[in-house]
Amino acid sequence: MVQKLYNDKELFSKLILEWWHKHKRDYPWRCTDDPYFILIAEMLLRKTTAQQVEKIYNTFLSKYPSPEILAEADEDYLKELLRPLGMEHKRAELLKKFGLTVKEVYNGEIPSEIEELLKLPGVGMYAANAVLSFVYSKDLPLLDTNFIRVIQRVFGIKSEKTRARDDKKLWEFAQKLIPPGDSKHFNLAVLDFAALVCRAKNPKCNLCVMKEICNYYKGSVGYR
Ligand code: SF4
Repeated sequence: MVQKLYNDKELFSKLILEWWHKHKRDYPWRCTDDPYFILIAEMLLRKTTAQQVEKIYNTFLSKYPSPEILAEADEDYLKELLRPLGMEHKRAELLKKFGLTVKEVYNGEIPSEIEELLKLPGVGMYAANAVLSFVYSKDLPLLDTNFIRVIQRVFGIKSEKTRARDDKKLWEFAQKLIPPGDSKHFNLAVLDFAALVCRAKNPKCNLCVMKEICNYYKGSVGYR
């Protein structure tokens, strides 16, 4: 049983990466290894869609190419720019605070240690791990509700915590799925797979490459 789970984990990583190389989505924030650009993308992407963020991302970075310039932003202009994403007042306030903290506490440089990243306004575990995975190739998962849905379905596991995202065991499980040294591609693969195939509603099981190992699928078709 343990051996089977181990094999399924390896197979999961292999299958999802193979799928991703054929179906990946391209967004401007995926082509950079600048930690400031990555954190801005993560902050903008919260509670909105990638399509909405795509409309303003390049303009945002051409207006505010560094934390120092963001710290000095005119708040009214910033709100206007952020309006298509919604919650523009809150977003503008947080982004300015973020710019100001990086400028004043970290001399304009985004820190590279998790403890320091988590001290930045608006930066949580997900965004901090995005920097560490995409910029520094650390084998860390970007665990969010979508990632959790995929691994719960495929491996038939269930978190005992009310907020699964706070479950240490789930983080450890997800981390073990990452092919060493390839966390960026793996994390992006899970993100795209959850959005395009293993969707919250109406997952495309019949077209899915995980069918052979997926507990959810086997349960739904009475697999023997
Ligand atoms: Fe998700 Fe269905 Fe694929 Fe399983 S078979 S991973 S539930 S889409």
